[in-house]
Amino acid sequence: MLHDPRVRGFVEYLRKIESKWQRKWMEERVFEADPDPSKPKFFITVAFPYPNAPQHLGHVRTYSITDVHARYRRMKGYNVLFPMGFHYTGTPILAMARRIARGDSDLVWLLTEVYGVPKEKLPELTDPLKLARYFHQEIKEGMIRLGYSIDWRREFTTVDPEFNKFIEWQFLKLREKGFIVSGTYPIPYCPSCENPVGMHDTEDDVEPEVAEFTVIKFRLEDGTVLPVATLRPETIFGVTNLWINPDATYVVADVNQERWIISREAVEKLKHQNYSVEILSEVRGSDLIGKFVLNPVTNEKVPVLPATFVDPDFATGIVMSVPAHAPFDYAALKDLKQRSREVAEKYGLPEELIKSIEPKIIIKVDSTPKATAVEYVEKYGIKSQSEKLALESLTREVYSLELLRGVMHDNTPYAGTSVKDAREKVKEDLTSRGYATIVYEIVNRPVFCRCKTKVIVKILPDQWFIDYGNEKWKELARECLRKVNIIPPEIRKEFENTIEWLRRRPCARKRGLGTKLPWDRRWVIESLSDSTIYMAFYTIIHLIRKNRIPPEKLTPEFFDYILLGIGDVEELSKKLGIPTEVLEEIRREFTYWYPCDARHSGKDLVPNHLTFYLFNHAAIFPEDKWPRSIVVNGWVLLEKQKMSKSKGNIIPVRKALELLPADVIRLTILSAAELMQDADFSLEGVKTSIDILSKMYTLIRKVVEMGRPGPVKSTELTYCDKIFINKVKLLIKEIDESLSRLRIRDAVQKAYFSMYNFVMDYLSLVEDEMSDERRREVIKYVLWYVIDKWIRVIAPFTPHIAEELWSMIDGEGFVSIARWPEVRDEEIDYSYVLADEYIKRLVDDISAVVRATGKKPSRVFIYVAKREHLELLRKVLHYISTEKLSASEAVRKVLSEVKDRELKKWLGERMKKFIEYVVTIPELMRDLVIRGVPIDEYSVLKEGSKYLAKLLHCSEVIVYHYDDPERYDPAGRSKLALPLRPAIYIE
Ligand SMILES: [Zn+2]
Repeated sequence: MLHDPRVRGFVEYLRKIESKWQRKWMEERVFEADPDPSKPKFFITVAFPYPNAPQHLGHVRTYSITDVHARYRRMKGYNVLFPMGFHYTGTPILAMARRIARGDSDLVWLLTEVYGVPKEKLPELTDPLKLARYFHQEIKEGMIRLGYSIDWRREFTTVDPEFNKFIEWQFLKLREKGFIVSGTYPIPYCPSCENPVGMHDTEDDVEPEVAEFTVIKFRLEDGTVLPVATLRPETIFGVTNLWINPDATYVVADVNQERWIISREAVEKLKHQNYSVEILSEVRGSDLIGKFVLNPVTNEKVPVLPATFVDPDFATGIVMSVPAHAPFDYAALKDLKQRSREVAEKYGLPEELIKSIEPKIIIKVDSTPKATAVEYVEKYGIKSQSEKLALESLTREVYSLELLRGVMHDNTPYAGTSVKDAREKVKEDLTSRGYATIVYEIVNRPVFCRCKTKVIVKILPDQWFIDYGNEKWKELARECLRKVNIIPPEIRKEFENTIEWLRRRPCARKRGLGTKLPWDRRWVIESLSDSTIYMAFYTIIHLIRKNRIPPEKLTPEFFDYILLGIGDVEELSKKLGIPTEVLEEIRREFTYWYPCDARHSGKDLVPNHLTFYLFNHAAIFPEDKWPRSIVVNGWVLLEKQKMSKSKGNIIPVRKALELLPADVIRLTILSAAELMQDADFSLEGVKTSIDILSKMYTLIRKVVEMGRPGPVKSTELTYCDKIFINKVKLLIKEIDESLSRLRIRDAVQKAYFSMYNFVMDYLSLVEDEMSDERRREVIKYVLWYVIDKWIRVIAPFTPHIAEELWSMIDGEGFVSIARWPEVRDEEIDYSYVLADEYIKRLVDDISAVVRATGKKPSRVFIYVAKREHLELLRKVLHYISTEKLSASEAVRKVLSEVKDRELKKWLGERMKKFIEYVVTIPELMRDLVIRGVPIDEYSVLKEGSKYLAKLLHCSEVIVYHYDDPERYDPAGRSKLALPLRPAIYIE
């Protein structure tokens, strides 16, 4: 497509004007925002980028949506601040630099071949800070070239000393409030990096989730322990056997002075959880099959049996089987019974033993003893233990059903106790008697560190945590969430859930870039913890720099005053040696911009960053500084595939900008989907964007070349002109409504495609009137009126071409800061909109008849109903809409109310037709009729008969009242006329 010389020419043209306008915006400081009390402010931020790699198109969507939002608000008269910073904190940058230093060939290929980093740059990038600065510059350049309306004066990185001081203040505040705690704690950990691992450190950015398992010690006759890990210790009473993976390797080991058998994989994991483990010998899983173990609670002897679903890399690699209450266990038991002879022979077991095992019910649900797992596995037709996904989902269902409504059955010592309570009691009982111990495991495993090592759980002493589990704090966060506007609203539930399940979270690491904990400088605050209130920093950093305030003066008292208004400014001024005017100016800037009016981010940040954002604002700031709204969007797909580095289907921003103009990239991504849907970036989409931009450009240019119109009196406007103008007004009002709710795709469709079609339709109707000089002036006037508004409404989406067109029509200043073409409802004359709908429908009807008969019409006769008939229709539609009557009920009701005998007769004769017709009226027309928008069908058609003839490709259109005695009606059609649906006769 880009090979087509005309397309290429246009693309080249766009690229040229883009750099021109970007330069002008920069030179004229168009997007630098300072406090201006005369305007309402709008402070908009977006999750800042992490520069450990260049950005690809997947990143562009969130920033582009934010930019549209910022630009729209600016044009709506807000003083908009849209700043940007760069997040250097943490280990990913370190890890990246180390991988380059190691010469990791995948990474080198990705950077040089995909991202286009020059090979000779690589040695420099082995220094983490240089690497971050390099990608920082590249990302920034991409943002400038994409036309983002950012105030770059406020740019900072999270390793700037001023920022460090700000974060120190934040952490001192959190600690003061008791939200920072220390302790020994199990945390996700990479044994190869020797570092705790959070979402930012993992491949594909998944947060590793740690769960606590009870490990129950079953024993062989010689006392050797077969430890089984379970989340449901209360089911110990329903154990029928143990499962072992016959193909896995197990070891006999001395574990905390007991002899244990565990999978080989479990050895290292236990060591990381402070168990002393010494391997004595190795055994194959199959060697253990057929042995009997003692259930420490029931003293029953149960056999060890083979099951392939057992994962040796999960906890100890041995599990207990509770077929009545665990779907996996029941499925494995079924499998085993089906092959009982074969298994018995293979492992030398009596076949009877296998056959005799039956699920043992120990839980009642809704007071009936139930083998819930059996019921579910049968109901969903699970055939074998290899149906992993289905079994996992059934497991979740059974577990939550039994947790919610289950009660222990009479055959257990906990008869009558709820499952929930029994679980805690059994656990306590087992551990206190030495029958069980605790082991932690990653539940959403496998999770991989960016270094490709599998993440495990490590128990680390003296860790620092942010305590999101603190109930007092949770209550504040809930309150904060209640007050914030979430767009789109359906995502609110996820915030609510996150607040509930969040617990304490490690907040500092022993290495990485960032801010040191102010009270323990061995620790560096990690990346999801130093990015929760940084939006406040944008409001003041440029003033700190402008006034040359050195970092050492940015003390806690400084931030207390600036951000919270605490303390006496005179005293502070004396103490810090900063003039009071300066302190007051900085404080004023903060209070002017804060709170943040809109926070944008991708949907992956809801369960972490965005929720932390609420927590931390609620903890530190007074209520009037809490966030106002949060906007969340979905992914970008590439030809319907999720973009990922591992799939190799990424388009770096740099490459995209080498090929395509920024406006095309923006339009393609913005038009692809509404907020929460995933947006597909496809060649088809690119073509469509280039096509509409070039058509629109050509059309507006054509209008501009016609020259500016002279003065025109409103009485000179024709019916057709008025219809066009009012349609455009309504369209602009709709675009405004969509944008205000960030229904961006809908706004784009209307601003580009609908608007283009409206203008083209108008032009085709009036084209042959241009020979009349006066008429030509009026048409020019109408067109200029429309393009002036059109250029403004496209400015938020494709700002460069909008500026260029704006300069072509000699618009004042930059269109980026021109006023949005506000249309108030009372400025729209809806009678023209209704007339347009009416004519469109009539043309459709006639065209359908013409198509059906297959003959070319020469004359078209139209017979219209009377105004009183329209009144009947209005009443019917009114009843349908307000009283929720059916069409038939509404028509009958209206008929019963009609006083006039003739009118009653008219409707009575047409009952059936009328009812059928009513339901076919399109929405907009129906609404306009109900609202009482006037329309005189006869004069609409009379005025428009010339245009109608043109639209219908016939020589003449003749309009009659249906009962006009003079009418020409050879086929007797006129009696079929209904209000807003005239009868037709075609010759
Ligand atoms: Zn690692």
